[in-house]
Amino acid sequence: MTNDAKRILKNSFGFSAFRRGQEEIISALITGRDVLAVMPTGAGKSLCYQIPALMLSGLTVVISPLIALMKDQVGALISAAIPGAYLNSSLSSGEYRNTISRAARGDYKILYIAPERLKSEDLQGLGIAPGIPMLVVDEAHCISQWGHDFRPSYMDIRGFIRGLPSRPITAAFTATATDKVKQDIARHLHLENPYLLTTGFNRENLYFEVRHPENKLNALLDCLRARPRKNGIIYCSTRKTVESLCETLRAEGFNATRYHAGLDDEERRNNQDDFIYDRKSIMVATNAFGMGIDKSNAAFVIHYNMPKNIESYYQEAGRAGRDGSPADCILLYSPGDVGLNEYIISNPQNDGIPRDEELIQHNLKLLKCMTDYAVTETCLRAELLAYFGETGEDYCGNCSNCKNIAKTDITIPAQKIISCVYRLEQRGKHFGRAVVADILRGSKTQKILSQGLNTLSTYGIMADIEPYILKRLIEYLVENNYLDTEGEVYPVLRPGSLSGKILFEKEKLSMMLPKDAIPKDGIPKTKKRRTRFILESEEFSDRELFERLRKLRTRLAQESHMPGYIIFSDATLYDICRKKPQTLDQFHNVSGVGLVKKNKYGEVFTEIVREYMAEKTAPSSE
Ligand code: ADP
Ligand code: MG
Repeated sequence: MTNDAKRILKNSFGFSAFRRGQEEIISALITGRDVLAVMPTGAGKSLCYQIPALMLSGLTVVISPLIALMKDQVGALISAAIPGAYLNSSLSSGEYRNTISRAARGDYKILYIAPERLKSEDLQGLGIAPGIPMLVVDEAHCISQWGHDFRPSYMDIRGFIRGLPSRPITAAFTATATDKVKQDIARHLHLENPYLLTTGFNRENLYFEVRHPENKLNALLDCLRARPRKNGIIYCSTRKTVESLCETLRAEGFNATRYHAGLDDEERRNNQDDFIYDRKSIMVATNAFGMGIDKSNAAFVIHYNMPKNIESYYQEAGRAGRDGSPADCILLYSPGDVGLNEYIISNPQNDGIPRDEELIQHNLKLLKCMTDYAVTETCLRAELLAYFGETGEDYCGNCSNCKNIAKTDITIPAQKIISCVYRLEQRGKHFGRAVVADILRGSKTQKILSQGLNTLSTYGIMADIEPYILKRLIEYLVENNYLDTEGEVYPVLRPGSLSGKILFEKEKLSMMLPKDAIPKDGIPKTKKRRTRFILESEEFSDRELFERLRKLRTRLAQESHMPGYIIFSDATLYDICRKKPQTLDQFHNVSGVGLVKKNKYGEVFTEIVREYMAEKTAPSSE
């Protein structure tokens, strides 16, 4: 069975290996088992149901929330010669009827349906004529009020399933779901003993950064100027900000367009297409933009305002680097974002759903987690993953905090602090953390001078260390029993049970600290940054070839009125640069090249490679 799946994977989609979780899900589905899968954006959820759809007889129905998503997905299927179609409000009534009758005749293997359409009676025939062996709910978190994007029309899915002559295998997919949301999904869809899979949330190719700029606009311009010729999305929390920012960016010479729910349908569609078809490189948008936009080559997502919760943030930020290439997720934070969100959460719009205090409190808690992310000094990735219940390494090396912190030897500073506490103890004196820090830093406070503490040999020996660092060092020593505290109200410091190890046994100590926190004594050691994604760096020497391939892709895309990434993703172009295929067989080995695309595009792409290689090996004329 899985051999068949593997064959389809290569021949239809062009990939030679499954990604994590895909194979398990496919075998569950083709053996008739329900599935509930939580996999991060870009993990490859679509193939998890598209491959079984090709193996099962009858028509697979996919419920999907957004028109743009369906168009993209169906475009991709058709480009691989897989019969697919969609039903949504973008079709004229003639097209709509035509699609339904073709579906009822069994012309399609996969039909995407917008949830708003599910109540319509015309769909009944599908369950009878071709039969519906499998029903897939994409973006399944939309079913739950506890999720971040509740859609009432998702509640109609259950009724639709009930109306079918026989119960289909049911599969639910989402990128973000807490346990509560997962339970909701399983309950609403009546999943029967589903195969549950939550792959890790980590996306190694994404770089996370939080900035606390004085001036957000300047910070944004810096970010954009540092990324010329890159595609990306800028999220803002209000329509007004979208409009003014988009205008400013245009005035600054950026090729930007805009998107929010207040624009008329036509402008929204045009702007979205401009971005998807690479005519505009920057999309400035509210969170109305993006769900279901599978543009795989967005190289950055910048949040101009902080979103309401980490689920939204991770989903939006996750639209960067979908094809696995390196990409940046940057949050421009200001404390004002917190207040704005509190206001939005506490004053929910009256959209027919009654105001629910419990829900408001719940949402305020989620906001708190988001704020914690924005201000944490520890690894951003670890913070995100911990939110989704994954604990692990506290150093990823690929976020702005990890780039600024390093594992630092603190043996000498620890010796200084502990001996200061020792000296005081010898004089029969005990002080709290603040006074000890003042002594070490050599402060001339009233207390120090009046008690003659400035005559201690440890007075002023840590003058070169920032007060907040000193505070963290002391805290670390307390937490790890090198120092002790005594007293509840005014806790004073005393040598801890392990203090002798530092003073007399030469034990080494280290902790994560901002780089250069310990000026000369400690030896800051930085872990090497992971270099898995070297394509974008200087080491990527075939930039010229990449550009030629990209130009060809743009031309083909224009000729066929398809977004470039539906022809080939950036990841595929990179793989061509790596493998340099000069024959059709070699071309078939490239990731993302299936049979149809090998035959359709193989000749033109290998021709570019052959030319490039010939130029490179030709002796130069002078
Ligand atoms: P998701 O819906 O989980 O966000 P998609 O299904 O849109 O992700 O897939 C994201 C990208 O990953 C697409 O460009 C897709 O072609 C690619 N992809 C999916 N599965 C594989 C695989 N096994 N090998 C290589 N690329 C894959
Ligand atoms: Mg998807």
